[in-house]
Amino acid sequence: TKGIKPLVAGNWKMNGTAASLPEVRSIGNGFMRGLDAECDAVLCVPATLLTRAHQILSATPVKCGGQDCHARPSGAHTGDISAEMLKDAGASHVIVGHSERRADHGESDAVVRAKAEAAWLAGLVAIVCVGETRAERDAGETLAVLSRQLAGSVPEGASSKNTIIAYEPVWAIGTGLTPSSDDVAAAHAHLRAELGRIVGEAAATTRILYGGSVKPSNAVELLGIENVDGALVGGASLKAGDFLGIAEAY
Ligand code: PEP
Repeated sequence: TKGIKPLVAGNWKMNGTAASLPEVRSIGNGFMRGLDAECDAVLCVPATLLTRAHQILSATPVKCGGQDCHARPSGAHTGDISAEMLKDAGASHVIVGHSERRADHGESDAVVRAKAEAAWLAGLVAIVCVGETRAERDAGETLAVLSRQLAGSVPEGASSKNTIIAYEPVWAIGTGLTPSSDDVAAAHAHLRAELGRIVGEAAATTRILYGGSVKPSNAVELLGIENVDGALVGGASLKAGDFLGIAEAY
């Protein structure tokens, strides 16, 4: 979109140990070789790797992110991680409302919204995920689902500085399937318009990423679609060559 620098975001999900740090280093080095002129990058690693990934990436243009945060700043929530903790460990971004969290942990739009607000409070950029299931698409409900999720998950006060939207059709995640370019264009145009109802003019400059089976071979087509301001990349972000190959689409 005119006036928006694209962002390629990686989501390592529950993958990665110390053995994966060379991959982090390769991604950082790749962006130092000029890719950052065309697009920004953030790598959302497991929380256990954040500090080490940040140490490696702080000398590069690539930023670090978490994959989820608790809605509360601290307290009796065993096993959870607050936005402030992610920030302290080196994160600048955090994914909230990923479909795997919505499905595996029953996260509602209201919970996702509270997490986005918690992220802001800690000074993190919230990457808010929305997307329809296969059944919803087959029922012709895609745009209605996106309207509902966006209205429920994006807090008032969202701006291009504190929020990124990620459109991720659930059926396209990790499946190798992608929507047609026309369907991606329709979803992103719809999200831009709906975002305008929540944040007004800020919608024009807020990034809307596409996510779901993005890889180097389809990146040029997907990232060239109107209103697509970058990608959220799962599987293909685990290998530096693939992640950099996607960024090279710009
Ligand atoms: C994701 O998990 O956000 C994702 C888009 O996964 P994949 O790229 O593997 O489909």
